[in-house]
Amino acid sequence: MHMCPKCGKTEKEKQFLEAFCIDCYPFSFRIPDVVEIETCKRCGRMRIRGEWVSFDKKGMDEYIAGKCKGEFESVTYDSGKQQAFFTVKKCGTSVTVPRYIEFIKKITICQDCSRMAGGYVEAIVQLRGNEQAIAKYSKMLIRMLKAKSFITKTEETHGGMDLFVGSTRSVLESCGALGLHAMITKKLMGRREGRRYYRTTFSIRFED
Ligand SMILES: [Zn+2]
Ligand SMILES: [Zn+2]
Repeated sequence: MHMCPKCGKTEKEKQFLEAFCIDCYPFSFRIPDVVEIETCKRCGRMRIRGEWVSFDKKGMDEYIAGKCKGEFESVTYDSGKQQAFFTVKKCGTSVTVPRYIEFIKKITICQDCSRMAGGYVEAIVQLRGNEQAIAKYSKMLIRMLKAKSFITKTEETHGGMDLFVGSTRSVLESCGALGLHAMITKKLMGRREGRRYYRTTFSIRFED
């Protein structure tokens, strides 16, 4: 019977690769001791490859895989146990090798949340015309815009409703998805965060 020359465990206790048990086999991995991911304290999203994304197991695994080098096929990461499980194909078998990688949440605030807190408005959606259509589409728009960006405030006005939104692109995408046509006007507001800052107004009129 095989006995691991390093730890003395036998084939009954551990899976073996060549002479060693999988705990002691000299896999050539280059893995970080620590992985630090910026996490927004307000919305809980994480910054992965420059993008703020909701926690997603697959995204996390890919991120960890990107930080490791070596002879593995894939990695799954358990952030609770702070363990990475490497799948390695070796000597005709596939083994799962656990390794400890410390996970640190670096608490910060994402751009959307800091903009929301600062009352940032990049776009205004003006809904006018048929009241029932406004009631129906405003609900859908608000839901979509909140998912893609944020709404700083909503205002009921004479004959309609105004939505103050954090991102112009989110309005373009939402209007496109709902098939809404808007009159678009763009106004330069000055500079902010080192860039020109425009506010775009989308006027949408529903026929009676
Ligand atoms: Zn061993
Ligand atoms: Zn956030």
